[in-house]
Amino acid sequence: MKNIVILGSTGSIGENALAVCRNLPGRFKIAGLSANSRVDILSRQIKEFRPWFVSVNNKEAGLELKSKIGTFTKVFIGDQGLELMLEDKRINAVLLAISGSACLLPLLKAIDKGKEIALANKEALVMAGPMIMRKALEKKIRIIPIDSEQSAIWQCLDGRDKQELKNIYLTASGGPFRELNRIEFKGISVKDTLRHPRWQMGRKITVDSATLMNKGLEILEAMYLFNVPVEKIKVLVHPEAIIHSMVEFIDGVVMAQLSVTDMRIPIQYALTYPKRLSGEAGRVDFYKLRRMNFDKPDLKKFPCLGLAYLAAKEKGTVPAVLNAGNEISVDEFLKGNLKFINIPKVIEKVISRHKKIRDPNLEQILRADNWARQEAHRIINK
Ligand code: NAD
Ligand code: MG
Repeated sequence: MKNIVILGSTGSIGENALAVCRNLPGRFKIAGLSANSRVDILSRQIKEFRPWFVSVNNKEAGLELKSKIGTFTKVFIGDQGLELMLEDKRINAVLLAISGSACLLPLLKAIDKGKEIALANKEALVMAGPMIMRKALEKKIRIIPIDSEQSAIWQCLDGRDKQELKNIYLTASGGPFRELNRIEFKGISVKDTLRHPRWQMGRKITVDSATLMNKGLEILEAMYLFNVPVEKIKVLVHPEAIIHSMVEFIDGVVMAQLSVTDMRIPIQYALTYPKRLSGEAGRVDFYKLRRMNFDKPDLKKFPCLGLAYLAAKEKGTVPAVLNAGNEISVDEFLKGNLKFINIPKVIEKVISRHKKIRDPNLEQILRADNWARQEAHRIINK
């Protein structure tokens, strides 16, 4: 039995991860959970899985949860709870499904403590990829990706020598606005944006999927996870979202990973690797599907993708600045304070004003992140 901790358990990935564990009884002990504030969901999860501990970021939510549940589960409030959970020697694996940059420090801590890592979050890798991968190598631990594209690439590579790799094809559904023309982009509302054609996800990543920044972040994620130069990472629009990514080898062979769009598939594989177990997700029906389509992404309609390529070439603190500028812009867009078409404009301005540090340490990354957030706010409030 593996003792696992799920960080970000109340979110879309967190709930799917618990569904995977529920469906594989006797394999995993849900030893710890963490979330920002959703007391209702957390109490339900605690009742079902009886974890040893739960960490709640928000103070009021933590106090409310304490008053609601019995004494079996220990409730921690704030960062301290996370630290204590990750330090516990009984914990074997940590699944990280916290959204955004808030995942970076817990991830570094989990690696430091030598835990097996199942990583859904992409923003942490974008901010500090080289440092994360270096630390994982030092600690001799594996980071198994959950993001469906990275899981696909990882499965296609299957531990092969990087010398054999020619290109990575990162597939993208194209989001809800693939077929709009550029003029129609001006009228895009929050409601239109939150309606993704293929995936059910948290709000932030759903907006990122509509701007294609999600694919941009995934370029950076793949570059660091697989140690591949950005020139070898091609984005391929594939609206059916059945192929989750492909790897082309030097002999001309292309390997692809296909499945229905259900995050329980990559989550389960990350948890049971190297075994494949039967799961509850649906199957691809090729007779119904009949054909698949491919296209080039339109960088004019989706400038976020170009900005991510730029950040991937620049490296250093630029990806962290791109990510922070994006997080603030998406947040302000969701609050109704920024237009959809202005999201890339804000990010571009923030990047253009940034003084890059080439090989940053953690403190410099966090400082760049903080600066970019303030700068984005300044630009938006003008
Ligand atoms: P979500 O918004 O549904 O859930 C986020 C979770 O993080 C919640 O449990 C929330 O309480 C927790 N959280 C947020 N801020 C926190 C903080 N400061 N401290 C502690 N907990 C905090 O998001 P999601 O869609 O589940 O995505 C999670 C991560 O996985 C993101 O990085 C996303 O890019 C990545 N991802 C998601 C999907 C998907 O299908 N949803 C697919 C691929 C990758
Ligand atoms: Mg993805």
